[in-house]
Amino acid sequence: MKRLSQWIGNQPVAPASGQYLDDLAPATGKVIAEIPRGSAEDVDAAVAAAKGALAGSWGTSTPAERADLCDAIADAIEGRAEELAELESRDCGKPITTARTVDIPRAVANFRFFAGAVRHDQTGFHDMGGGRFNYTLRRPVGVVGLITPWNLPLYLLSWKTAPALACGNALVAKPSEMTPLTADALAGIIADVGAPAGVFNLVHGLGPEVGAPITTHDGVSAVSFTGGTATGKHVAAAAAPRFKKLSLELGGKNPTIVFDDADFDAAVNGAVRAAFTNTGQVCLCGSRLFVQRGIYDRFVAAFADAVRALPTGDPSQPETRVGALISAAHRDKVESYIALGRDEGKILVGGTRPALPGSLADGFFVEPTVIVDVAAGARCATEEIFGPVVTVHPFDTEEEVVAHANAVPYGLAASVWTQSLGRAHRVSAAIESGMVWVNTWLLRDLRVPFGGMKDSGVGREGGHHSLDFFTEQRNICITH
Ligand code: NAP
Repeated sequence: MKRLSQWIGNQPVAPASGQYLDDLAPATGKVIAEIPRGSAEDVDAAVAAAKGALAGSWGTSTPAERADLCDAIADAIEGRAEELAELESRDCGKPITTARTVDIPRAVANFRFFAGAVRHDQTGFHDMGGGRFNYTLRRPVGVVGLITPWNLPLYLLSWKTAPALACGNALVAKPSEMTPLTADALAGIIADVGAPAGVFNLVHGLGPEVGAPITTHDGVSAVSFTGGTATGKHVAAAAAPRFKKLSLELGGKNPTIVFDDADFDAAVNGAVRAAFTNTGQVCLCGSRLFVQRGIYDRFVAAFADAVRALPTGDPSQPETRVGALISAAHRDKVESYIALGRDEGKILVGGTRPALPGSLADGFFVEPTVIVDVAAGARCATEEIFGPVVTVHPFDTEEEVVAHANAVPYGLAASVWTQSLGRAHRVSAAIESGMVWVNTWLLRDLRVPFGGMKDSGVGREGGHHSLDFFTEQRNICITH
């Protein structure tokens, strides 16, 4: 069995605690690795290494040098794509096809994109006339803490690491202790491609024992956090009084809205994809499906058939669409919401554990589940479940469905399915969420602002928003 290390100053090192945690494969419930149980001492060492990098050659590196480093990391990930996809699938229980087509290519794209972004970046120049003008410099923030969840481990870690490195910061990263394997691989890749020691430091361990010390550490100037809303509150409470820059990408309970005039088949396929991609464990998943009354019965029948046909089970098989949930505890949570759904409505599809052969029998699986005849304000329809569970609701008017969409504390994403251009614009503008897709879902352009409003987060990442977050802009005003 593999025993992982912390990565501090490009070196694999044992945790100060001397203790290790088990990393389980969700598809079998078996231990597949041991990871260091990190502590504040490890965080101190990582911050010291990061400061050392900033005081050395990294502190005077040019945007072009940092872009070359990001490109080299992208090439190395691409060169090991299949190995990394297998690691990710095993560690998360996610379908291998998802890891191959989404997670790993996106990690490559993140590094390539932000290499290009700093190569082509422009900063402001404001001419006041009369020999007076301003120009704006970007400077790295310093040591940046990156805290990431288990659902898209390398995808999200690289989404933060790439812009943070491209902007010249030195990093202390803490992945979820449930999915450490690709973060460990990334640390090795960054060392192998020749990044200066201390530029990227990785501290494994538990949230309260490693994540919390990162958020309170005086040497950490900014924290980029992706995870649940409850944890985000802790992170904000720790970082705010210390005036750290803070980016919070949090939970969601996203509506999929299908109007009578939608392209029917495209909407069914889109709604299935939105609900069940990555076993429903994507913050952007459409877990509340609103269907206009005129097509409701026909749509629900087609949707249910499509969900019943989703291949569920062994994540290592290329045809599998729905894999395992991340842990037994998470499955308990998802199943508690299915039980609630039975009380609040009716289970139309799924609702139980699939019968799987061999070692998969001990995996953390739940069938893709559709709940109908449930009020739009029911708990299972308004609280984040983060699993393969969708509630379906009829509606009559635009006003009514917009009110439903906005009646939750979250505001991350939505998808709207209609062939009316006017309706698409009206409804998209009225929904309180950071992102709306029309006639598609999870179509990503890395230049656009990504993030949520209300309880779904604070701040935006992506494109120049990431460059703004990972730099301090300094205005210089000159007269002559
Ligand atoms: P989580 O429990 O909030 O954990 C996220 C990260 O924070 C983990 O690395 C966790 O470590 C760490 N952490 C826990 N307690 C901490 C503390 N007190 N201080 C600092 N860090 C701490 O979230 P999760 O269950 O891993 O991920 C699922 C959630 O993430 C869902 O709500 C989902 O919607 C959200 N998400 C949002 C986005 C987005 O872009 N908006 C993207 C993906 C996921 P441990 O793992 O050791 O607890």
